[in-house]
Amino acid sequence: MLKIEGLRAEVEGKEILKGIDLEVPAGEIHAIMGPNGSGKSTLSYVLAGREGYEITGGAVSFHGQDLLAMEPEERAAAGLFLAFQYPVELPGVGNANFLRTALNAIRRSKGEPELDAMQFLKVARARMKALSMPEDMLKRGVNVGFSGGEKKRNEVLQMALLNPGMAILDETDSGLDIDALKIVADGVNAMRGPAFSSLVITHYQRLLDYIVPDKVHVLMGGRIVQTGGPELAHQLEASGYGSVQAA
Ligand code: ADP
Ligand code: MG
Ligand code: MG
Repeated sequence: MLKIEGLRAEVEGKEILKGIDLEVPAGEIHAIMGPNGSGKSTLSYVLAGREGYEITGGAVSFHGQDLLAMEPEERAAAGLFLAFQYPVELPGVGNANFLRTALNAIRRSKGEPELDAMQFLKVARARMKALSMPEDMLKRGVNVGFSGGEKKRNEVLQMALLNPGMAILDETDSGLDIDALKIVADGVNAMRGPAFSSLVITHYQRLLDYIVPDKVHVLMGGRIVQTGGPELAHQLEASGYGSVQAA
């Protein structure tokens, strides 16, 4: 599904990613853990195609396609979902229109017919009921006045509607409480299946109590320095990142 080889990237002339190798097969959920400043968010931004990150080496393929050669919209159309792609509030942009536009862009690229407002509402309402989301969240501006938990629910709704092949979640700095963690975890766990992969990026082990990963990778100083099973997350929680030998 996702294959990263020798990936190097710079921000403002400073090398942050120093040769990342990582493969996430279809159907697997991998976690990336690491101390602050290790490059976790940089990796997610590079995979998203955010501006300002210069790729200086390596390759990334997604479903066999050269991800780094694709525009951010093309990455989304190919089935890559970034959980924090739209963290901002958009006053004046109705949440229903926003979600429908995102969904229709992907449907168009797949050659599927677009949904009109009524068709979309039907699909969205069914999903929202499953997520215990009040219906008025569709009428409000995107994330405007949403609580932290409501923003999480909205992201999970967006993910469920877009049905991506791969979701990348960077939770590191979002200061989620337990309720919000559970919303995200339930959303990801509901997507689990042979055609879904996820890269869960987190500073804390807590989230991984709810989303049990197939593999855990430790990122330090811009490199993956250790890979293990779910038990590695518990080990790190107990002994800290100091116990991991930086490569
Ligand atoms: P993490 O998410 O693991 O905490 P980041 O990817 O946010 O780490 O940051 C990795 C390193 O890159 C840090 O040393 C940070 O200061 C630096 N960095 C990140 N973004 C920028 C930027 N826009 N300009 C300069 N340095 C940056
Ligand atoms: Mg950080
Ligand atoms: Mg970060």
